[in-house]
Amino acid sequence: MGLTLTVLGCSGTYASPGNACSGYLVSDGSTKVWVDAGSGTLANLQRHLAFDDVDALVISHEHPDHWSDLEGFFNVTRFVTQREGLPVYAPEGLKKRTYNDDESPYFVWHDIADGASVSIGGLVFAFSRTDHGPETLAMRVDGGGRSLGYSADTGAKWSLSALGAGLDLALCEATFLHEQEGEAQHLSARQAGASAREAGAARLVLTHIWPTIDAEQSRAEAAAAYRDRVDVAVVNETYSI
Ligand SMILES: [Zn+2]
Ligand SMILES: [Zn+2]
Repeated sequence: MGLTLTVLGCSGTYASPGNACSGYLVSDGSTKVWVDAGSGTLANLQRHLAFDDVDALVISHEHPDHWSDLEGFFNVTRFVTQREGLPVYAPEGLKKRTYNDDESPYFVWHDIADGASVSIGGLVFAFSRTDHGPETLAMRVDGGGRSLGYSADTGAKWSLSALGAGLDLALCEATFLHEQEGEAQHLSARQAGASAREAGAARLVLTHIWPTIDAEQSRAEAAAAYRDRVDVAVVNETYSI
């Protein structure tokens, strides 16, 4: 059965021409979870499924490049599908930043935190706090007998190994190249490769690459540290795990 990962956007920090900010669909073939909802991801979501097929949203942190399309999706649930009770899992701080709140019947907010584990249909999400400004949660998703690890945003003081052994695919942020290491709480491609190698991840896909960086350079730098083939996430592509 396995898992699929569909990239709705993978542009780091701001949307670039033809690409959206961070967002993904994770599915075991029946349950469909929208993970992160950066700007542009709502538009791309509609290429892959109907609004009512979204079983839940999971948001990693409150930086807007990971959630701002929640506002548009709130309009969809309110005015288009009129669907109430959609679960939204996010760190506690996020719901105070959005214009919808606990009073609305459309989104049902669930706080998640470091160490929490949540079952959504056939998928099990387990969260790990990363090395990044606001409370930021990386996640491991188990379903269909397979495992996906997603770093969310992080600096080098957190590693994919915190998500446990046996990741079939690691989706890891690689905002910078090695010469920018330490400039912000993000990883370079080299650090992403090293993190995936340390975790023993079977496959590495880079995401959240800064829009002006040549992704081929990122791929090569990460591959040298990972010591195996590395892929760069491509918007609207689906990866079988
Ligand atoms: Zn980000
Ligand atoms: Zn961030």
